[in-house]
Amino acid sequence: MSKPHLRLADVHRHYGEGDRTVRVLEAANLTVESGEMVALVAPSGAGKSTLLHLCGLLESPQSGEIEIVGQPTSKLSDRGRTQLRRSTVGYVYQFHHLLPEFTALENVVMPQLIVGKSDKESAGRAMELLGLLGVGHRATHRPAELSGGEQQRIAIARAAANHPRVILADEPTGNLDPETSDVVFGALKDLIRNEGAAALIATHNYDLARRADRIVTIRGGLVVAHEL
Ligand code: ADP
Repeated sequence: MSKPHLRLADVHRHYGEGDRTVRVLEAANLTVESGEMVALVAPSGAGKSTLLHLCGLLESPQSGEIEIVGQPTSKLSDRGRTQLRRSTVGYVYQFHHLLPEFTALENVVMPQLIVGKSDKESAGRAMELLGLLGVGHRATHRPAELSGGEQQRIAIARAAANHPRVILADEPTGNLDPETSDVVFGALKDLIRNEGAAALIATHNYDLARRADRIVTIRGGLVVAHEL
């Protein structure tokens, strides 16, 4: 069997010391397979951002292992982590964070140029993704000329530009109206399936969470199945 794209094994993450220690994760485990979309639903302060940051190698656990496509990350240098993150992880935030002075196309091209792809290859991939996400006709527009749903679909295209094996999203529809949320979530789901990425999506929206393959929450320091 192929290795899961994302695996957390016995991960501990706490903040602070002594009486003021906040224990967010204690021996937490999670496995997400290729093409699987997992929704993360938990109250504010439960540790959703912490979990996503750990999966995205933006934070390190105090102990335990995080594997991306079978590669353990606990012993990597900062440089090694950054390289692995750039080549394997795509991140979508609640606010699109697109660069305002660049077009939609350029925003999706840029992360590809950073990893050394040619202009031509990058533009081809960007147009493919914008088309897949239903915003190909907006390629030459700047973010300010786009609707919230379009901006967010372009942010998803940017996150997927380098064929990430892991897609992480922190409230990707948190800023959108219900109908637009539905469209954006559907586009994200199609993309995950198409690309065979493993995805962990934090959301407060139960209707959307139900459309994921499964729903998890954080309880007692563990990542556990969430029954709605
Ligand atoms: P969520 O995303 O579910 O709202 P977070 O992951 O942001 O939760 O936070 C989980 C807990 O860890 C909270 O109690 C928060 O206050 C605490 N926390 C998060 N980051 C830090 C930090 N850098 N220093 C201290 N405490 C933190």
